[in-house]
Amino acid sequence: MPQTKPDKRFENHTGVIIGGLAYAVLAGAVLSALAARNGSTALWILVGVLIGCVALCGIGYSAWIFRYYRCPDCRCRLRPEPGPRSSPLRIRYHCQRCDIIWDSGITWGGE
Ligand SMILES: [Zn+2]
Repeated sequence: MPQTKPDKRFENHTGVIIGGLAYAVLAGAVLSALAARNGSTALWILVGVLIGCVALCGIGYSAWIFRYYRCPDCRCRLRPEPGPRSSPLRIRYHCQRCDIIWDSGITWGGE
């Protein structure tokens, strides 16, 4: 039986994504307030572009983390475990070389 270990790096990744979203919402709110006061169309477009960019970066960043995951011990590139079909699905990576299952602590499909 491989042993299961939690990978703490995912907590940092989640923090970055949530922090980035919070920052985008804040910046969006400030720009929206400015745009509403000035009645400026250019600012509204800027708000849309900014939120769109942050959303794309967030999606790209999370996709990149899950796609290019490497074993913290041997640096092997790992693919997510298929896991059971039932939800919530827990994202885990099995390193055959170290015989360790790295648990991201992240679940798809909600609790
Ligand atoms: Zn490994």
